[in-house]
Amino acid sequence: MLYRVMDASELPKLIDAFMERYEVIAPVQSGRSVAFEPISSFDEIVLDYPTTLTSLKKYILPPRETLFEFSVDDADVTDYTLEIAPRVLFGAHACDINALNNLDLVFEDARYPDPYFEAHRAATMVVGINCSPSETCFCHLLDADEVRSGYDLFLQDLGDRYLISIGSVEAANILEAACELREATDEDRREFRRLTRERQEAFSADIPDIQEIPMLMDAFHKDEFWAELGGRCLSCTACSAVCPTCYCFDIADTLDEDGKTGRRERILDACTSPQFAQVAGGHNFRETGRDRVRHRMYHKLNGFNSKHGRYLCVGCGRCVRACKADISPIEVLRFFERKGTEDA
Ligand code: SF4
Ligand code: SF4
Repeated sequence: MLYRVMDASELPKLIDAFMERYEVIAPVQSGRSVAFEPISSFDEIVLDYPTTLTSLKKYILPPRETLFEFSVDDADVTDYTLEIAPRVLFGAHACDINALNNLDLVFEDARYPDPYFEAHRAATMVVGINCSPSETCFCHLLDADEVRSGYDLFLQDLGDRYLISIGSVEAANILEAACELREATDEDRREFRRLTRERQEAFSADIPDIQEIPMLMDAFHKDEFWAELGGRCLSCTACSAVCPTCYCFDIADTLDEDGKTGRRERILDACTSPQFAQVAGGHNFRETGRDRVRHRMYHKLNGFNSKHGRYLCVGCGRCVRACKADISPIEVLRFFERKGTEDA
C-alpha cells in the first residue's frame, strides 16, 4: 500500500478535481441527520459525521432497479444498457467499505456475476475517511473497524493533515495532479497509531466482546431466547432497509397501462417480512417472528462466515437505531454474555 500526506487545506482541491470528472456523493446535513447525497461544492460536506441513517448500498444496489424492458407485440426484450455516470462515493467509513466488500462477495461471485451490480461498482470510486465511534457502533467486535481493500483512497485525519492510503492508480493520478503531497514521516505514523488507539478506546464498553460467535449461534439455535426476541418483531423491515449488507431481493414484471410493454425490476426485499418465505400453495417455511429474526441473525453472524470467512454484519449499528423493538445483533451478543454468566 502506498501512503502520502496532504495538508488538510488541500482537501477542497481534491474534491474540485473529482467534481470535474465525476458525480461526487458525500455526507451532507439532511434535516437532523447526515445522509450521502450528490454535492456541488466542498462546503456541503460534513467530514466528521456519525453513522448515516441509510447506507451507501443504495448507490450500488438500488432499492428498485429496472433489469430490462419488454414488448409483448415484438416478443422482445431490450438489451441491458444501463449507463451509470462515473462517480465518487466520498467520505465512507471503514464499516461501510467493508459492507460493500461483503456485497462484492455475493454479486461478483465468479459463478453468478451480477452485471447490474458490477456496472454500478465499476463506475464508482470509493474514498474513505476515518471516524469516531458512536454508542451503537460495534464494528471493532466484528473485524470491520479497519479496512484494507475496496477503496481508491482512504483518508486518516491527523488534525492539520491527512495520511492517505492509496488503493488505485486512477485515484492516485487525480490526487497527485490536484494536491501537494509528501512522504509520510515517523511522526505521521506515530500520530496515526495514537489516534487509532484513541478510537479503539472510544467504543462503548457496554457491548460485550464475545468470542466464537458462529459456534455459539449453532450451540443456542433452539434456545427460547429466539422466540422471545422474534416475538417482539413488528415485521416493519426497517432493519433490512437501513442495513448496508442486507441484499435479498424479489423480481417483479410490471405491465404498462397499454398492456403491451413493461419492465422487469429487481426490488430489495427483507427476510423479516412474513411473506418473504411464503411459497406457492401458501406454505411459509419461516412462519413465525422467531424463525425470521433467527434466520436474519444467523445469516449475519454465522451463515455468511461459513461461506466467506467473515461476518456479514459489519457492526454499523444502523439496525440498532432503526428497530423499535430493540432487536439487533447487540441483543444477540448480550444473550451470549448472559449464557456465559449462567454457566460460570
Ligand atoms: S427486527 Fe425490528 S426493525 Fe427488523 S422487522 Fe423486526 S421490528 Fe422491524
Ligand atoms: S445487521 Fe445491523 S449492525 Fe449489522 S451491518 Fe446490518 S444494520 Fe449494521
